[in-house]
This record gives sequence, structure tokens and C-alpha cells, in this order.
Amino acid sequence: MIYQQNPRQQSNGNSLKEVKLFFFDMDGTLYLGEKLIEGADLFVSKLQENNVRRIFLSNNSSKNRKEYLKKLTKMGFKCAAEDIFTSLNATILKLKNEKVRTIYPLGTPSFEEELLENGFEFSKESPDVVLLGFDKTLTYEKIDNAYQLLKRNVRFVATHPDVTCPTEEGYIPDIGGFIAMFEKLTGRLPEIVGKPNTGMVSEIIKHFSLESSECAMVGDRLYTDMRMAVDASIKSILVLSGETKIDDYEKSDLKVTIVADSVKDLIPLV
Ligand SMILES: [Mg+2]
Repeated sequence: MIYQQNPRQQSNGNSLKEVKLFFFDMDGTLYLGEKLIEGADLFVSKLQENNVRRIFLSNNSSKNRKEYLKKLTKMGFKCAAEDIFTSLNATILKLKNEKVRTIYPLGTPSFEEELLENGFEFSKESPDVVLLGFDKTLTYEKIDNAYQLLKRNVRFVATHPDVTCPTEEGYIPDIGGFIAMFEKLTGRLPEIVGKPNTGMVSEIIKHFSLESSECAMVGDRLYTDMRMAVDASIKSILVLSGETKIDDYEKSDLKVTIVADSVKDLIPLV
């Protein structure tokens, strides 16, 4: 069921037919944990038939594209590794655009692998950027080295801001606590790319030479997915299949383009 379609953001009666790129949040939007949300695969397939680009977004920079591709393919989504953007992939686009070459990484082995595959070099002594990810392999040595660099005013970038990360077994500590630790140590806060910051989508929109008016974001969280979509001036589609209930939306100040029970309800609109 479609609850609301914001008339101010519609044109020709149905704005979604003009969308050239759909961004998807994954958990709560396309699946819940290991369970496919009914019809989500059909919506994604219909977009593919219509030659509409589909980009799957995740703030989680501890996993790489290959790991998400495996999960999405297993659930029946037709996609390629290049269609998946973790906050690290969006950060890579930004740093490449800015001609950054050397990085001191704080991240998992798959995080480091993705940076090397994209042509960056690592430096402990004189990097262009200290890049903080969701580092499940963080050590005292890495903290100390980053601290020394940050004291010398080396540029500081973090992939995303989440404080905790949902898993099958409950919540685990994410990058937010590390950001707070470096703030306590150095008084510095990083530039942050991932949701709800618009960098997560704006770098990708630029990469595909599109306009924001040609893009839409589908997600289940108001203050990350929808906040980012509204701030980035792309169409905002809230689905109620995950975290947000209709009462939460009605109480919120954030007004989105479309509210739907699930992505399945969007099939007739594209
Ligand atoms: Mg979600």
C-alpha cells in the first residue's frame, strides 16, 4: 500500500518513471537479516528490464563488495559488484576525485585490499589522509600511529558515523566510538562520507554524470536513509518493512516523496 505521495515532488502524475538511478538501503528494505522481503527481487528485476541503474548502499565498511554480492545473489537479486557501494567505495570515489594518493588505513584486511585494488598506496609516515573505517582489527599500534599523524594535522576522513552495527546476534560497536576516541585524543573530528551525509550519494551521482533530480533513494530509516535523500535533493522513498512504522513517520518533521509498506508496492510505479 502507498500511504503518501508528495504532490509537490511529482511531475506528469508519476515521478518514478523518470528516475534513472535507484539507491537501495539493504537491511530492512530488501531483506531482513537472512530473509528476502517479498517482491523486493521483482522490483529490482523490473528496474533492470527498464534499464534503470540500481545501486545497493551500505554504511558498513568492514565488509567489501564481494561479500555483499554473494549475499544479494544468493537471495535472487540480479546485480554486479560495481552496483554495490559500501561507505568505503563512496569514500574511494571522493578521494580519487581529489587526487589523494597515499593513505594510512585503519580498517579490516578486506578494507585494505579494496584500497590497494583502487591504486592507493599506504604510508605510515607521510600519508595524504588518515582513513578510518569500521576496523574490527584495530590495535594499539594503529591507534598510536594515527594519533601521531593527526597531531601533525594530516587530513582525517572516516567512512561513516554509525555508533553500533546490527548483527544476527544483536548490536556490536561500530566506528562511532573510534571517532570519539580520536576526538578525545586530538580534538579533531573527521570528514565523514557515509549516511546520513550526502557524500555517500553525491559522489556516486557525479561518477555516473547524473543530476540529483534523476535519482531516488529507497530505505527504511528516517534519520539516515531519508535524511540523506532529502538533503541531497533526490527523491525519498520510505518503506515500512524495517525500522520505521507509520506512526514514527507521522510524528517526524521529515517529509518524503513516497511512503510505501514495502518495495513491492513500488512495482506499478516504475
Ligand atoms: Mg536499513
